[in-house]
This record gives sequence, C-alpha cells and structure tokens, in this order.
Amino acid sequence: MKYDNKPTVSDRLREEAFDFKLLEQAKNYALDYMGNILNQPVFPGQEALQRLHAFIEPLQDGPSNPYDILENLHLNGSPCTVAQTGGRYFGFVNGGIVPVALAAKWLSDSWDQNAGLYVISPIASVLEDVCEKWLVDLLHLPSETAAGFVGGSSTATLCGLAAGRNYLLEQQGYDVAKKGLFGAPEIRVILGEGAHSTVYKALSILGLGSERLLKIPADNQGRILTEAVPELDNRTLLILQAGNVNTGAFDDFSALCRKAKDAGCWIHVDGAFGLWAAASQELGYLVRDVDLADSWSVDGHKTLNTPYDQGIILCRKRDALTQALHMTGSYIIYSNHRDGMLYTPDMSRRARSVELWATLKSLGKKGVSELVEDLHHKAVYFAERLAENGFTIHNKVWFNQVLASLEHSELTGKMLSLIQSSKECWCGGAKWGNHSVIRISVCSYRTTYGDIDRSVNTFIEAREKVLGDTPQQI
Ligand SMILES: *Cc1c(COP(=O)(O)O)cnc(C)c1O
Repeated sequence: MKYDNKPTVSDRLREEAFDFKLLEQAKNYALDYMGNILNQPVFPGQEALQRLHAFIEPLQDGPSNPYDILENLHLNGSPCTVAQTGGRYFGFVNGGIVPVALAAKWLSDSWDQNAGLYVISPIASVLEDVCEKWLVDLLHLPSETAAGFVGGSSTATLCGLAAGRNYLLEQQGYDVAKKGLFGAPEIRVILGEGAHSTVYKALSILGLGSERLLKIPADNQGRILTEAVPELDNRTLLILQAGNVNTGAFDDFSALCRKAKDAGCWIHVDGAFGLWAAASQELGYLVRDVDLADSWSVDGHKTLNTPYDQGIILCRKRDALTQALHMTGSYIIYSNHRDGMLYTPDMSRRARSVELWATLKSLGKKGVSELVEDLHHKAVYFAERLAENGFTIHNKVWFNQVLASLEHSELTGKMLSLIQSSKECWCGGAKWGNHSVIRISVCSYRTTYGDIDRSVNTFIEAREKVLGDTPQQI
C-alpha cells in the first residue's frame, strides 16, 4: 500500500481529541441546561418539537465541525427533552440523578473503560466488587449473593430467569446449555397476573413461552393471591414482584417464599424499583423474607436516582449465574479478580459501576433509607391532596405509586391529555380494573412538596376544563 502524507480522518480526530475547548463548550451547554431545568416545560410543546426536523437529513459525505454538532444538539435537542431532572415529572417509574453520580459519569466517560475483564479495566472490576458487597449488605441479602451489572431490570430479569431455568433443569440431570430446550424435561413457570411485561419478554426469549405459564390471579392491588398458588415442586420457577408497576404493591414474600423454598422452587423477584424498600426501616416490612429468594432484579436508575443504564441482577448461587452467561475464547484472559463479563450477557460494556458506586458513596446507608422514605412520604402526600380535592384514589400508597382518576373513565382520559400538554407536570395513564387511571410515580429527590401542590393545581384546572367542556355533567 502506498503511503503518502495526505491528512487522514485519524489525523483530524487526533487533533480534535486535544481540543479541550470543545469539552468546555459541552460543559457550558450542560450547565445552561441544568440551570434552566426548573423553568423548562416538563414536556416539550409543539414549537419545540418542530426543532427535531433539524436532525432528519441524509448523512453527508465529508466531516462536520464539532462545535456545530454540539450547538445543534443544545439548540435543537435540549428543548426536546422531557424535564426528568426537574421536580414535576411523574411518568412511568423514572428517577432523578444524584449530582456526584453525574459528575463521576462525566469523568469516567473520559476514561472510556471496557468493564468486560479485570485486565481491560482494574478500576471497573474493583468498583463492581465493592458495589456487589455494598448492595448485599444494604438490601439484607444472603452474604454469598453475586451481582451482575447490566443495562436495566429487563436484562437483569432475563439473567435471573436464565440462571433459574438452567439450575432447575440441571437438578433434573439435564444440561440445557449443551442439549438445548428440545426434549428437555418440563419445568413449570408460575407468576402473578400483575407481572411486568418485561418478565413475559424474558420468558419468551428463554423459550418458556407465554401460553404455557401458570398465571395466578391477583387482588385489587395487584398482589398474588397466596391461597391460589398450587402445590409447588422442584421443577418450578416462581416469579414474584416487589413493587407492582401501577399500585406499587408487594407480593407476600413471607408466605410465598417459605412455601416455595421448602418445595425446592427457584424464586425470582422482580424488584425493579421496590426492592429498595429493603434498605428502609420504615418500609422494610414490605419485603420481609424476600431474602429467601434465589435471584432478584433491581434498577439503580429508578428509586436510587443513579443515571440511566443501571440494572442489577443479584443471584444467591454465583455459579448458576455465571454458568448461564458463560462464554470462552482462546484470547479471553480470566483473572483471579472479578471479570465482569461472567455476570452479564454482554462482553464489552461501559463501566456503569462508577456511577452506582458514586451514588451509594454519596448517600451512605442512612441516605438510601431516607431517600426511599422521602419518596414514599411525598407519594402519600400527593394522594392525600388529590383525595381532599375530590379525586378518586385507587390504591393504598404502599411505596411511591399513586393511581388517581375522575369518576368516569372517559373524562379521566381527557383530563390526562390536558395534564400531559400542560407543560406543568407529566403523568402517564393506565387501566386499573375497569377504570382508566392516571399513574403518578414519585421517583426523584428533586420533587418538593411545593412541586406536588403545583401539580395538584394542574390536576384541578384540567378537571375544571374537562367538566366545563362536557355539556351534561355526568
Ligand atoms: C421498570 C420496570 C421493569 C423494567 O426495567 P427497565 O430498567 O426499564 O428495563 C421491570 N419491572 C418493573 C416492576 C419495573 O417497574
């Protein structure tokens, strides 16, 4: 190949890599965004959304100026975000962002570490180890419990159920990793009818089907009816829930885990946002005996307020987890230290343990407990204020979720549309029993009691408008 001195793309990028002004500019835009967040519409209005057209274009041939790229993102991208880091976003179950975790993420983004193996990143490996120990302690799980750091609870659940499926089949003398599911002994999957959709997704990926599941009816809070659970055995994968995505309710772990444990089931707990109750004195009663389970999935990016991309699979049997996710290759160098890829489906992965570590270090045990309780107290207050003002509340506020409505579903739907376009606050909707409801999730430390009062006013104004627009008041 002929070598000439024409500058290449690498030459240009190398030059940009030392242009620290570019990063200063990014910092200025970020600070501008964060400084304005409390004034920004909670959901972008139509005129802001028009800006998204700036991004819809064919990829050009040549390079673009890095300053122009950043400016485009800030001018046209920042206004089209939802103000999730403000105090009045109550949609889905999302969280805020602990300040030092954001700062640590900025720093570690500049490291660009691959957390796959100790030899690729000693710091990522050690922080994963430390976080594993801290989480086990904080959540009062069995001391031998292993943790894998993945993108979210969807993946964490997939890992826990893969470990459980393989373990149960191994107990039947069947190696599913080698022989596949064809001709495997049957195992049974039991879950509550209120299980999260990501559990169904994980089961279908794992070849456990959706029509073959045994769905146990739930009570009016979404909790498994304990007495409806059939005889259990050691061929059963039992999936329980800490925090129903609508009501926030918890299954009765004391009754169910004891029974399942005695029978030799594998018990997985989807605790995406609710497992954090285990870190609180006041709310710990909700997860009594949850430590009897075999695997637990939980998110950092909801209740704990870490940045996104922070799911954790916790598994009592370390070998069951690593064997389910194992891979080999002659160039892979396992060490005597922690090799993160053994605990996740990914090989290359960013060092997400940095932000988790920074969050836990920032809060301490007491801080996590206070944060969880504070979100609960604010959710209770939100529900009380709505009830005082004549709204119907459909759940007991177990944790941080509130379901509210008007008396008639159709009017609730109209009211929700007005709230969502109000720019003042944002909530999602759901069906609960026969009712259309508004789902409120209090997940961020940024939410103040003042934010809740302001949001309740938005609810009241929306109701007035809906009732005013409705000719005969029903
Ligand atoms: C959010 C949630 C999930 C999915 O978690 P992701 O982090 O979004 O993948 C699963 N179960 C419950 C109960 C949840 O609230």
